[in-house]
Amino acid sequence: MDKILVVGAGFMGSGIAQVLAQSGYQVCLMDIQPAITDRALRDIRWSVEKLEAKGLLREPSQKVLARISPVKDLSNASEVDWVIEAALEEEDLKRSIFQELDRIARPETPLASNTSSIPITHLAENTKRPERVLGLHFFGPVPLMGLVEVVKGEKTSPKIFERGVTFVQSLGKTPVRVQRDIPGFVMNRIFSAAFREAADLVDQGIVSAEDVDVGMRLGYGWNAGPFEIADNAGLDTFVRVAKTMRALGAGYLAPSSNLMERMVAEGRLGRKAGKGFYRYSPEGKRLPWGNN
Ligand code: NAD
Repeated sequence: MDKILVVGAGFMGSGIAQVLAQSGYQVCLMDIQPAITDRALRDIRWSVEKLEAKGLLREPSQKVLARISPVKDLSNASEVDWVIEAALEEEDLKRSIFQELDRIARPETPLASNTSSIPITHLAENTKRPERVLGLHFFGPVPLMGLVEVVKGEKTSPKIFERGVTFVQSLGKTPVRVQRDIPGFVMNRIFSAAFREAADLVDQGIVSAEDVDVGMRLGYGWNAGPFEIADNAGLDTFVRVAKTMRALGAGYLAPSSNLMERMVAEGRLGRKAGKGFYRYSPEGKRLPWGNN
């Protein structure tokens, strides 16, 4: 059975580990902060048991949970068949993680990144196996979202790219092939173009975030409005993505206002902080910002 190392146990790493375990893979889950790995294990247990209670799990939750082992560092990279990196969206950090993974992992092991915006080609430059480095861009919350972009770096081999596609299918997700490594890949670029306008209109006081979300749901059939999506993803991650897009010459896809930077400075990071464009009750219920 395939064994996979997930690096980073935050919002995405935790969701990826859960989906891998539900699909029968053995998972090593690592975070630089062990407390975050512990929290991820608690969150995964809660989520898997909830699925079980609803009859949506194919096997007993204990069996799924037993497939996930917390690990303290990257040394397990030597034993796994795949690595998926889901650490903070910072290029220097990811480059150093890829360098270390390349040193430890077996030469044939594919190294994937869940980055939202950093070119896969940059991360591959820090390895001696650029043909085995690819993007697997999951969408959050990973257990609920059906899409994964499979991203081809400049040197990703066609064989590894197709293995990425098959791997995504084995998770019950639908792959979208991104044939060229451009900043933000495809879905984030399209979303960012809409989000940029939405954030700037809100910052100018023309409309409230809640009204934009209602409008996009009722007017365009979106399942969730752009600010609901941003709160779920984490505004700190959005700020990092916007920074990368600007640095890579795709700044026209980032908001022109610094609304999110100001919110992050105030601790409004989104759902995980209990406050973002909305407030959240301790049970996680979304409440309008102005209606405390
Ligand atoms: P997060 O902040 O929830 O989690 C990031 C985790 O990385 C943190 O727990 C942090 O402790 C850990 N970390 C930092 N340095 C590390 C290191 N050296 N080794 C191991 N772990 C380390 O962020 P997130 O939302 O889970 O995002 C993770 C990645 O997924 C980013 O690249 C992000 O762009 C991408 N992504 C995020 C979303 C989203 O909706 N949030 C969607 C798709 C992709």
